[in-house]
Amino acid sequence: MAVSEFEIIETYFSHTGTPREDVVLGVGDDCALLRTPPGQLLAVSIDTLVEGVHFFAGTDPEALGHKALAVNLSDLAAAGASPAWATLALTLPDNDTAWLKAFSAGFATLAERFGVQLVGGDTTRGPLTITVQVQGFTDPGKVLRRDRARPGDRIGVTGTLGDAALALKLGAGVEPAAGTGGALTERLHRPSPRIEEGRALAGLANAAIDVSDGLLADLGHICSQSGVGALIDISLLPLSGAMAAHIKETGDWSIPLTGGDDYELCFTARPQLTPKIEAEMHRLGSGFCWIGEIGQAPGVRCRGLPGGALKGVAGGYEHFGTP
Ligand code: ADP
Ligand code: MG
Repeated sequence: MAVSEFEIIETYFSHTGTPREDVVLGVGDDCALLRTPPGQLLAVSIDTLVEGVHFFAGTDPEALGHKALAVNLSDLAAAGASPAWATLALTLPDNDTAWLKAFSAGFATLAERFGVQLVGGDTTRGPLTITVQVQGFTDPGKVLRRDRARPGDRIGVTGTLGDAALALKLGAGVEPAAGTGGALTERLHRPSPRIEEGRALAGLANAAIDVSDGLLADLGHICSQSGVGALIDISLLPLSGAMAAHIKETGDWSIPLTGGDDYELCFTARPQLTPKIEAEMHRLGSGFCWIGEIGQAPGVRCRGLPGGALKGVAGGYEHFGTP
């Protein structure tokens, strides 16, 4: 190792993100000391990315730095929380300084965009593994949870579904997806956490989740945890041009229904709040669609799905069924 663990921390991780006034002590001591706003709840989430499991060897380190933070911020978004701090546990096979520079730049750029300060972490040697924990704040009266959906709620989704999984399918593990101008690959490698949308939905939506494992699976979590079911209309699913073209060509709806890594928000809300939510999303310039309704019968059902259209779906989606 040309540079020591101490030098890695000092050079790449000691001034990362936005310096915050609520950080009494950040990187460099035994503990970070942080001031939480009175009356707010602390929202905490952690996620790990393992090379060979969550990303291919050789993935652009700048994109990895972005994604490792983005997937965590997406959890805060789904809770309607405002991001504040992050910690980073990094296990590295070696001390490749070009890799570290690019990784920390990707992490820092996204952290600055959302006013997050990196306040601590751990650096070890081993197979490349990136664990990020984030902390944010939420008003106790405006929390977004998975277990509050009610029959009659409308189901909304931000952005478009399936693009990241389509990028993977088209071979964009490391290189840009063929024939898509790089847009799908951006969706896979640089997901944009829906923080503003989550904050806008807090206090309006009944339930929310970020779509990390695919719409059916994640909406299925809302349903099972709320003791309800869902009926979605596939003609209403928000699709990018590339995704729509792929479905037209193959007749296969499995990617937008079950593909992971979208990091959009799926939420449910009382129908009378429709105009308010639409106005908020319009104010933020966020694409979003209503895709169905919550009902009493358990499970997630799809209306309008042609026979065999889910031919690519692996087993295990026990929440799926056609009425
Ligand atoms: P300790 O041995 O007391 O756990 P470390 O030597 O692991 O301390 O870390 C020294 C300081 O650097 C601590 O403040 C820790 O939070 C911080 N740190 C270590 N690795 C990272 C990292 N990858 N990113 C951010 N901060 C880090
Ligand atoms: Mg340590």
